Amino acid sequence: MASASPHSPDPDSGAPRHFPVVVVGAGPAGLTVGNILRAASVECLVLESETREFIEQRPRAGVLEEWAMRGLQRRGLADRLLERAQVHSECEFRFAGERYRFGYSELTGHHHFVYPQPLLVTDLVREYADVRGGDIRFGVREVRLHGLDTDRPSVSYTRPETGRRDVVHADFVAGCDGARGVTRASLPPERVHVSRHDYGIGWLALLAEAPPSNDCVVFGIHPDGFAGHMVRSPEVTRYYLECPPGDDPDNWPHERVWAELRQRLAAAGAPPLTEGRLIEKRVLDMHNYVVEPMRFGRLFLAGDAAHLAAPIAAKGMNLALRDAFLLGDGLAAYVTKGETGGLNRYSEACLGRVWDYQEFSPWLCEVYHGTSSGDPYRAGTTRARLRRVFGSPAAATAFAEQYLGKDSAL
Ligand code: FAD
Repeated sequence: MASASPHSPDPDSGAPRHFPVVVVGAGPAGLTVGNILRAASVECLVLESETREFIEQRPRAGVLEEWAMRGLQRRGLADRLLERAQVHSECEFRFAGERYRFGYSELTGHHHFVYPQPLLVTDLVREYADVRGGDIRFGVREVRLHGLDTDRPSVSYTRPETGRRDVVHADFVAGCDGARGVTRASLPPERVHVSRHDYGIGWLALLAEAPPSNDCVVFGIHPDGFAGHMVRSPEVTRYYLECPPGDDPDNWPHERVWAELRQRLAAAGAPPLTEGRLIEKRVLDMHNYVVEPMRFGRLFLAGDAAHLAAPIAAKGMNLALRDAFLLGDGLAAYVTKGETGGLNRYSEACLGRVWDYQEFSPWLCEVYHGTSSGDPYRAGTTRARLRRVFGSPAAATAFAEQYLGKDSAL
């Protein structure tokens, strides 16, 4: 399973192993950190609990903000993305039976890039393991972190092939193992603060084997509940339906899903929905959290391990990439030149943007769900927000900048 780097010690030799950086988790964050380190000729080991085939197919995000694409491009990680991604400049709101196009690129000069997360992960794994010679172990079990507040932390894990327990020493550990990983759980509770926001709603997240039904993302704001249409590829479309939190996906058979989508996305002049087989159907209990600080001793958290943004504003993967750029650059500068500034500033530099996106998420959530809340007051304020976005150029520009996460600094 392992792809051994020509530069690293033979993983089967039984010799004690040391890597400047051990990365836990091969999602967008971990693989980007690994790629940045390999580009700087820094040895690192990536530990991933799933198989390569699994992570290359796991469907999730699809919308990349332009600054994130540019950040990947600057690090030599966007060649395939630029060949294959769709470039979007508008989205559409549907409410009260009408369609309202929102041209965010005209207002800001920036775009969204639609590129399914599995394709990005496939590109990043290939570049890390096959091109840059990075060491990666798939299918590892029972990852544990040790001595994080010492100068010589270590990571232990069980190998899938032999059941043998391995220990790897490191100078730094990058915790990139997502929302359900072990690295966040390794933090002593008295040394970190976790802020959490529960929305009290669920989204039925669907993937349909069907071409998109519209040329851009659609937000359906309807008294029966929110519905979303997210372009993914010419063959596959993601849809969302608001549902009670904790709902059982089995409550949503094929006919009910498509009837609700037709109803909630209906608007004068809208093209009919292109229906297809549902290949993913899961309920997301919508919540956000932020861990502060994002560093403990020699452990740095990045991406969903450090903060979660429910997919309301399509921010999670973008934030994961931003963390990874800062962490990868900071680690490379430290290991190759002894520069400490990037690592010392890491947590603070990430958290500014994290909180900015956290603030936008409940605002947009209320736009989506106020109308279906059953509360006339919330329905009224939702209408006011929409009127302002579509009636005031200044409000429209401010919304577009938050929606796009415009940032020229990275
Ligand atoms: P992950 O992608 O979760 O990667 C973590 C990796 O760590 C995984 O491969 C996991 O298998 C591995 N791992 C876990 N535990 C361990 C362990 N103990 N040991 C070793 N490895 C471990 N974001 C957007 O920006 N735009 C969108 O359009 C968007 N849409 C979304 C739609 C849905 C339905 C969902 C669920 C999410 C969406 N997101 C979106 C969020 C986005 O998918 C995540 O924010 C992103 O995957 C975070 O990347 P990450 O690398 O931090 O974590």
